[in-house]
Amino acid sequence: MENTKILLDENEMPKSWYNILPDLPTPLEPPLNPATREPIGPDDLSPIFPMSLIKQEMSQDRYIDIPEEIQDIYRLWRPSPLYRAHRLEAVLKTPAKIYYKNEGVSPPGSHKPNTAIAQAYYNMKEGVERITTETGAGQWGSALSMACSFFDIECMVYMVKSSFYQKPYRKSLINLWGAKVVPSPSELTQAGRYILEQHPDTSGSLGIAISEAVEDAVTHENTKYSLGSVLNHVMLHQTVIGQEAKAQMAQVDEYPDTIIGCVGGGSNFCGIFLPYMHDKVKENKDIDIVAVEPSACPTLTTGEFRYDFGDTAEMTPLLKMYTLGHQFVPPPIHAGGLRYHGNAPILSQLCKDGLIRPMAYRQTDIFEAAVTFARSEGIVPAPETAHAIKCVIDEALECKKTGEKKTILFNFSGHGHFDMAAYDNYFSGNIIDE
Ligand SMILES: *Cc1c(COP(=O)(O)O)cnc(C)c1O
Repeated sequence: MENTKILLDENEMPKSWYNILPDLPTPLEPPLNPATREPIGPDDLSPIFPMSLIKQEMSQDRYIDIPEEIQDIYRLWRPSPLYRAHRLEAVLKTPAKIYYKNEGVSPPGSHKPNTAIAQAYYNMKEGVERITTETGAGQWGSALSMACSFFDIECMVYMVKSSFYQKPYRKSLINLWGAKVVPSPSELTQAGRYILEQHPDTSGSLGIAISEAVEDAVTHENTKYSLGSVLNHVMLHQTVIGQEAKAQMAQVDEYPDTIIGCVGGGSNFCGIFLPYMHDKVKENKDIDIVAVEPSACPTLTTGEFRYDFGDTAEMTPLLKMYTLGHQFVPPPIHAGGLRYHGNAPILSQLCKDGLIRPMAYRQTDIFEAAVTFARSEGIVPAPETAHAIKCVIDEALECKKTGEKKTILFNFSGHGHFDMAAYDNYFSGNIIDE
C-alpha cells in the first residue's frame, strides 16, 4: 500500500508566505472608514494594529519572508503531516483518493497559531504590551493566548457567551496560557453593556465580541487588537498550510482535482487553497475548490456581496464581502468557529468571480460524517472540520457512482478533543437543525 503519512523535513518548511493580492483576477475593493465611508489608509488602522501587519494587509509583494523567530516557533509542530485516508476510502468503497492536511497537531489543536504567532511577534516588535481579541469556539482565544505567552504580552479574550458555557475547557486552556477571558457581551465595555440592556438573554455573537475587543483596545494604553480570520494578513500567514501540502503531494506525484475546506471567516480554507489558486489563475489548472459552511450561518451560499461592518457596533472599517448583515446573530450551533456573519474579502471576491464553489450542510449531517471519519481514520474532528469532511464524503460517494478516480485534498482544520459535549449531544439525539 502507498504511504499513509507524507512528511516534510523541518528544513523544507516554507521560508515565505504567499500573498494572493497581486495575482487576484479582480483586485479587492478598499476597506472604508466607518464614519466617512471613504477608503482608508494605513493611518486609519494604526490605533488597532501594528504597522507591520497593516503593511502586510495592503502589500502587493507576491512573497513575504517569514522571520526566523516565527519559523523557530512554527517548528514546534510544523511541517504538519499530510495523510492519505486509506481507511476512509475503504469504508466508502470509493475509487477517489483522499488526502488531508492535519492542522490539529498544533498545541492548541488547530491552524490558528499559524497567524497567532505571527501577529503576537509583530506586536512585540513594535512594543505593544497588551492584545485584545474575541473568540467563538475558543480555538482562536487559546491560540492567541499561547502566542502572547511566548512573547510576554498580556492577552484579553472576549468569548462568545454560548461557547463560554458550552466549552468550559477551552476557557481553562486560555487561562492556562496566561490570558484573561470573559463571556461576551460583558459589562466591561460600552458595546457590551448596550447589547445586555437590549437583549439580556443573548447567546452572543462574534460580531458583538469583536466590538468589545476593539473598544477595549482603543480605550487602553499600549494595547492593540488582533483578529483570527477574515483579514488579508491572516489569510497570508495561513498559506504555510497550502505550500507544505503542495510539496507533500508532489512527493507522491499527486495534484488535487478537488480542494475542500470549512469556512468561518475563511482562513484555514484560504491557507490550503491560495497556493493552488495561483496555479488555477496563472497556469489555468483545472481544480474544483469547494467552500463548506453551516446551513445555520450560510454566508457564501445565501449572503449578499456588499460593504458591511465586521462587528455589531459598527466600529470596524467596512469590508466588501459576502455578509448576512452585521446584526445577524446565528443560532448557537456547535461549530462555534463557523458562526460569523461575514467572510474574508479575498475569499468573497474569488467566490464572486466563480473560482470557488460554496456549499452548506446541516449540523446533524456533519456529525454523522465526523463519526464515520473518527471510526475509520481514528482522529476526532472539530465540528467545524466535520463540515469539510461531510463534503469530502459526498464527493467520494459521487466518484463511486461515476467511477471517477478523483484526487481530493481537504484541510483538517482542527481536532475535537474539547468538543465532547457536542458529540454527547449528538449521540443523545439533542443536536437539532434550525
Ligand atoms: C476557527 C476555526 C475554523 C473557522 O475559521 P476559519 O477562519 O474559517 O478557518 C475552522 N476550524 C477550526 C478547527 C477552527 O478552530
